[in-house]
Amino acid sequence: DEDDDTEAGGEIVAGTASGFPPFEMVEDGELVGFDIDLLEAAVAETDYELTGWEDLGFDGLIPALENENIDVIAAAMTITEEREETVSFTDPYYSADQSVLVQTDGDFEPEELEDLAGQALGAQSGTTGEGVVEEQIEDGTFDEGDYRSYDEYVFAVEELESGLLDAVILDEPVGETFEADRDVEVAFVFETGEEYGFAVRQDDEDLQEALSEGIAAVEDSSEYEEITREWFDP
Ligand code: GLN
Repeated sequence: DEDDDTEAGGEIVAGTASGFPPFEMVEDGELVGFDIDLLEAAVAETDYELTGWEDLGFDGLIPALENENIDVIAAAMTITEEREETVSFTDPYYSADQSVLVQTDGDFEPEELEDLAGQALGAQSGTTGEGVVEEQIEDGTFDEGDYRSYDEYVFAVEELESGLLDAVILDEPVGETFEADRDVEVAFVFETGEEYGFAVRQDDEDLQEALSEGIAAVEDSSEYEEITREWFDP
């Protein structure tokens, strides 16, 4: 439609925030992962052309979308009402809950959120994981002074490995991936029923619809399963 910000069928630039395996990470200098493959496959089903990727901080993605530095966000971004005040999401493409990571074989073995009270906690700035911490601080369960916010989850995981943090709260599929690759393990999972969507500017309805149709087409073909197998079951 004529009011769309991005020309229908035009060129688009995607934004992501690497350091969130297996959804987006840099390997051998290259941006790779589930979201990278899925967005590229979904766009290939549309008449839009994806001309490049910007790797930004997670916190900077929505501002970059609003500034028109990027046209779509593919960053394991949970569809939330708060975000929907500023952006529009495609149909969901992945479901996730939250998990709590601790050091492998450490003495600290929390089983529920209350067990984290008084411990040094980390999460990535602007995420739903951080939102969980903020809620607990508001409820008086956690102390604000025990929380540290990071630009990237990998930095929080490194500080957990070195014992500077006692626990990190993050999306469960990413927690599982860090468990496989690092000296950390998932202590417990708690249900949040989050769903990831690609985000576009609110006035880019044509792009939003095209991408949702693209996702559906990828899901209906064998491609979605192939991409899932590639990144979750190597
Ligand atoms: N799904 C979480 C969120 O949307 C985390 C995303 C991320 O860190 N890339 O806040």
